[in-house]
Order: sequence, then structure tokens, then C-alpha cells
Amino acid sequence: MRYTVILNGCASNFISQAEEINGFLSDHGTASIKGNTIIFYCEDEKKEALIANAPTACLQLVKVSRYQPENVLEILKQHALTQDTDLYLFPSDFAGSELCVRFAYRMVGSSLVGVNGMEIGEEKLICRKAVYSNHMQGEFVLRQKPYCISIAKGCAENKPAPDMLRRVISEVDMTQVSEDSFVKSYEFAAEVSPSGLEHVGVLMVAGRGVKKQEKAERLEEIAGALGAALGVSRPVAMNGWVPMNRLIGVSGVMAKPELCITAGVSGAAALFAGIEKSKYIIAINTDERASIVKSSDVAIIDDYEKVLEELLKIVKASE
Ligand SMILES: Cc1cc2nc3c(=O)[nH]c(=O)nc-3n(C[C@H](O)[C@H](O)[C@H](O)COP(=O)(O)OP(=O)(O)OC[C@H]3O[C@@H](n4cnc5c(N)ncnc54)[C@H](O)[C@@H]3O)c2cc1C
Repeated sequence: MRYTVILNGCASNFISQAEEINGFLSDHGTASIKGNTIIFYCEDEKKEALIANAPTACLQLVKVSRYQPENVLEILKQHALTQDTDLYLFPSDFAGSELCVRFAYRMVGSSLVGVNGMEIGEEKLICRKAVYSNHMQGEFVLRQKPYCISIAKGCAENKPAPDMLRRVISEVDMTQVSEDSFVKSYEFAAEVSPSGLEHVGVLMVAGRGVKKQEKAERLEEIAGALGAALGVSRPVAMNGWVPMNRLIGVSGVMAKPELCITAGVSGAAALFAGIEKSKYIIAINTDERASIVKSSDVAIIDDYEKVLEELLKIVKASE
């Protein structure tokens, strides 16, 4: 088994990427197997630090004019065609996971992101990763080489590179190679901040039964007028009707409000886990056989819009 570590030397988090990979490698007994590192970088002044932090003695420095995944993938593909590497290891950040999956697809290999443990087997790589919002540890077997994995953030103690008596360094300058990419420009969007829904007293959860974005927006107004915060089920978040940080359930927020009102939610286990700690659950659903009906304290079998608009009128009249 041979492995190659891919690092982004253009990124400001280079040292932590490298130290995390170092920690992961030393936890997984890779000292006895052959490894090398490819570092993409833009600025010559940083070269010394990049070399000092590389996890393997054998290392390739690839100078690029800017970090562009399309071009990096092409360079990696050329590398893969000339080198006999079974396993590619990528860092835990978003860029590492993106490269990992795209590279495996191009090489017709197998990929897994967020890996926190691995065992090298005969013609397979056994990997572990946290699943269901870190509630369970899953075991995955990769069989198709090259195996491409990105490690999980914080899965290993950050460690500096081991002392190397001798480094074998090769350098390639790709700055003059024209960028043949379909990506013409890009910008970084600010990370969505947490919604704080895990701490609210009254939560309303909108499900696929709301049917469209305008209805979800109206539901948010109603929730606000009733003193509730709005969370959503996965189909609503995946449709982009509200930001992803409002997702309730095992893949999102685990809430524990005093009162939870669900509207157009069927009550699938993955969603229900996120509201089961509510003190009181009221479900509004047109289908009396929906599982939420059995799991709620009170179920109203009707159209959610009719029920909530009427409730709003009553609340407003009593103000
Ligand atoms: C690994 C994994 C993780 C997942 N994690 C999550 C998660 O964290 N959160 C999550 O939500 N899902 C998650 N899911 C998806 C989950 O299994 C369900 O598919 C999802 O919760 C269903 O959402 P829903 O109840 O809105 O939609 P549906 O199941 O389609 O239910 C819609 C409901 O609306 C009712 N309805 C329709 N019209 C009306 C109306 N006018 N008035 C009232 N009721 C109406 C229908 O009777 C139906 O019961 C996950 C799935 C997997 C495989």
C-alpha cells in the first residue's frame, strides 16, 4: 500500500491541515508504508514552512498561480497516471473534502469524507466516520482503488511533522500553464451562523406539506406572531425555502422546547429525534395515519393553513 497526502499550501490554515494529517497518520501506523506528499502553493516565501510541515520525507511542491480545484484535479490526475498510489489522503476542510470526492470520481476510485479511523485490509480500506449528527459511528469498506479519503475535523491530535534526516523534494512550476476551467470567477460566502433553535421555548416546524416557498414564508410570519421560532424538515431546507441552519432532526438541530407545533410534517424518525424532547407536541396533518399523529400529544387532522390562520385570528382578537 502506498499513500499520498494532498495539502493546500495556498490556504491560511496550511499548518493546521498538515498537523491534523500528521496526527491521523501517526495514530494509524502508516510509518511502515510508503508515503509522499504533494503541496500546492503560490508564494515562494512560504516554501520553507511548507517543507518543514510536510508529513512525509518524500515530497512534491507544485507552484500554481492560484488555488483552483479544476487545475489541481488535472495535476493530480497526471500524477496518478504515473505513480502507483493506492490511497490519497485529503485534509478535513471543505476544500479537502471537495477535492477528495471529485478526484475519486475522475479516477473511478472510491471516496469517503470525514473519516476518523481506518484499517488497511487486503484489497480494501476499512474506514470509520461519525454518522447521524455524531450519534453513531459507521464503518465503511472502500474496495475500488484509488481510495480517496478526507479526514474528520478534530479526529486526531494535531502533531508537528516528525523530524526528518533527509527530505526528497521535487518541484514543479505550473504557474505558466493556462487555466482551462469552466470556473470563470468565484467568491467566498460567509458561513451561516447557528440558528439557536435548540434553546427556544416555542418551536413551529414546517414540513413538506407547506408545499412552496411563499407558504413557508407565510408560516414564518404566523410563527413570529404566535411567539414561536420556525424550524423545518429536510425537504423544506433542501428546497432552499429557508436557510439550512433551521433544519430540525438528526442532521440538524436537536431541539427541546416547551411547546412544538408541527405543520405538514409526517414525523419520520430522523426528524422526530430532533423534537422528541419537547414537553408538548401538537401536530397538524391532513393524514390521520401519519406517524406524527401517534407520537404527538394533540393531533389536528386538517389543513395546516386553515388551522393556523384561524389560531392567529383568535390570538390577535384576544390581545
Ligand atoms: C441519513 C438521513 C438523515 C436524515 N435527517 C433528517 C433530518 O435531520 N431532518 C429531517 O426532517 N429529515 C431528515 N431525513 C429525511 C427524513 O427521513 C424524512 O424524509 C423527512 O423528515 C420528511 O419530511 P416531511 O415530514 O416534511 O415530508 P413528508 O414525509 O413528505 O411529509 C409531509 C406531510 O405533510 C402532510 N400534509 C400535506 N399537505 C398538508 C396540509 N395542507 N396540511 C397539513 N399536512 C399536510 C402529509 O400528510 C405528510 O404527512 C433524513 C434522512 C436520512 C436518510
